[in-house]
Amino acid sequence: MRIDIVTIFPEYFGALDVSLLGRAREDGILDVKVHDLRAFTHDRHRTVDDKPYGGGAGMVMKPEPWGEALDAILDQVAAPGATTDADGDANADGDIVDHDAASVVGTGLSAGAADARPRHRRETDPIVIFPSPAGEVFTQAMARELSGASHIVFGCGRYEGIDQRVFEYAESRASVRLVSLGDYVLNGGEVAVMAMIEAIGRLIPGVIGNPESLVEESHEDGLLEYPSYTKPAEWRGYAVPPVLTNGNHGAIAVWRREQQLERTRRVRPDLLPPAQ
Ligand code: SAM
Repeated sequence: MRIDIVTIFPEYFGALDVSLLGRAREDGILDVKVHDLRAFTHDRHRTVDDKPYGGGAGMVMKPEPWGEALDAILDQVAAPGATTDADGDANADGDIVDHDAASVVGTGLSAGAADARPRHRRETDPIVIFPSPAGEVFTQAMARELSGASHIVFGCGRYEGIDQRVFEYAESRASVRLVSLGDYVLNGGEVAVMAMIEAIGRLIPGVIGNPESLVEESHEDGLLEYPSYTKPAEWRGYAVPPVLTNGNHGAIAVWRREQQLERTRRVRPDLLPPAQ
């Protein structure tokens, strides 16, 4: 899977070098490119925000750099056989892409261009995801669905968010989703994107060594997972439930199912189907 991330804080994504996702990148399962939004500005201060129309507190991300960043990424994909980065340089997998903004000026469509027409979508076309507290809530089911995508572009908002026209423009070029991590407000989209990439990435075949470990997890079958234990059998006066130590796999399966139901009922009753 290819992942492009547009952000004003590329350094946030250094964590993608470690652990299972880091290895997936080394193995070529994940191809991650991080793009600095400020590389698509043209003023001395590399401005990406401005005051909101209509007044109000805070700043809004300007559409122009977003339009150019999306063009740079999507033009490259649209061109069959493209093997170079948006700036035309060969790119080592996982590098932060060092865009030469000048080279993407005039790459065809620009934000608000009259010729930004919706076009026929192919299955391999990128999905553009903007994290937003005003989006649909991210779930395990969505992570599983997105783990089958071949290319996802993430656009990280900051300040009061991104000018609405950017979403409309992106929609003219790709499938667009606004996705929320939950009902709270973060300072920016970076943390949300990290969480989504981790949840999606671990479902891609080859990323987790033993795929069976994915099957019984929380949210996979609509319930929370049962409690887990390891050695020693007794620790600081707390014993492992005897059913787990007697080798009766039928009894263990029944106990685990009961635990799943009990835990879900207690902590997340909203996940259970309504009582008949
Ligand atoms: N003014 C916006 C609102 O009320 O909907 C909140 C903007 S927030 C301070 C800045 C950015 O953080 C958003 O554009 C989005 O990228 C990200 N963000 C904040 N909360 C989020 C959440 N719950 N899920 C996903 N992204 C979030």
